[in-house]
Amino acid sequence: MATPIQDKPLAETQNSMLATTLSLFDSAFERLELDEGIAAIMRQTETEMAVTIPIVGDDGKIMTFKGYRVQHSSARGPSKGGIRYHPDVDIEEVRALAMLMTLKCAGVNLPFGGAKGGISVNPAQLSMHELERLTRRFAKMIAPILGGKRDIPAPDMNTNEQTMAWFMDEISSRQGYYSPEITTGKPIILGGSEGRTEATGRGVAIATVEMLRKQGRDPEGARVVIQGYGNVAYYAANILADEYGCQILAVSDVSDAIYNPNGLDLPSINDHVLRSPGHLLQGYGQNGDVDHITNAELLTLEADVLIPAAIENQITEKNAAQIKAQIIVEGANGPTTYKADAILQDNGVVVVPDILANAGGVIVSYFEWVQDLQFFFWDIDEVRARLHKKMSQSFEEAWTMAETRGVDLRSGVYLLAVDRVAKAIQKRGFVSSGS
Ligand code: NAD
Repeated sequence: MATPIQDKPLAETQNSMLATTLSLFDSAFERLELDEGIAAIMRQTETEMAVTIPIVGDDGKIMTFKGYRVQHSSARGPSKGGIRYHPDVDIEEVRALAMLMTLKCAGVNLPFGGAKGGISVNPAQLSMHELERLTRRFAKMIAPILGGKRDIPAPDMNTNEQTMAWFMDEISSRQGYYSPEITTGKPIILGGSEGRTEATGRGVAIATVEMLRKQGRDPEGARVVIQGYGNVAYYAANILADEYGCQILAVSDVSDAIYNPNGLDLPSINDHVLRSPGHLLQGYGQNGDVDHITNAELLTLEADVLIPAAIENQITEKNAAQIKAQIIVEGANGPTTYKADAILQDNGVVVVPDILANAGGVIVSYFEWVQDLQFFFWDIDEVRARLHKKMSQSFEEAWTMAETRGVDLRSGVYLLAVDRVAKAIQKRGFVSSGS
């Protein structure tokens, strides 16, 4: 008798993010009327590795940490996904995020499958040397399942280009030659791509403009409210204002939320954030040219577009009915709950889902991998032009699928993604009777 891949199918998860992904996935499957056997394959992860990572601390004592790498699918290409360092990392969360990566890559038609990894650790409690030892040891332990044509890590929560440089160095040393294609999100000097830092925010800006145009509105002067002012929100805000003439009415972070119904002065905000300790909004606008509001108030402001670009679960059944923007573009992952989504749909609010809206980052990661494989690097204009083309095409495909099937944009992207992965599995013949 065949051995099951894992003892507990994804379908039995207690993880709410995974449960939401699976229910969207299941309804896409029903609509596509695809083979139930293919669904069974896609509900499982392909490969899972759990390791205990020992390192010697700066004080000479041994510490151990749990680490994971999960590959959900390699049906459409090497699996791709970030590595996060956080105390809450566990196998369930990593599985959920790996599955989401398969769908995200397929949704924007990148030739990748999905993976995710992480270590259960609070990196703030480790020194730089301890973090380097932890990263190198983890890379060594999961190296047997990694590779530029097999599984390509990227930065995620609490990891960065330095983490990816250590990863790449460790695996390259093991192979005996420099292999930049092993990770993405690296420093530019080690094969990173121009335009990677701004990519997610730029993609969010492009998705916003596409959505406005679909509704026959001119982006010039469109009133936009943004939750967050970190990497994604900062670039989305500045690109929308500088390149498309949008009016940014409000932005926020953990320290404050600032609002001006006539539009914020972004250059002076940027100047403040750059100089302030922790790069926070706190202390901005002492001369009374902005209103200080709460993050909750920001979400329900009068505006054309709301971009939640901070953290998950911000638009819930409690505040969805009060949202006044007609368009929501999800810069963050999972900012809208399942129940809120239904309320927004009833109220005619159009949501550009995270899986599409914030895909700019993984698209430029794909460009980085392509450049690394060729050892031929593009300038910033080429990266931006290619990102623009890919985001616009992906938006158009999702829009067409949603229109054809009479569903919302989120379901449209899921239909595209599930269909692409299922067809790849079928064509490869994973389930043919002859194999
Ligand atoms: P970041 O850490 O640079 O910025 C997060 C921002 O949210 C900061 O301004 C922070 O102060 C604010 N914030 C945190 N907690 C908050 C709270 N409780 N209320 C209000 N604001 C709060 O992170 P980022 O890279 O900009 O990522 C933002 C979101 O986008 C996350 O959901 C992330 O998973 C998602 N995302 C990021 C990328 C990327 O390339 N950076 C790609 C895809 C998705």
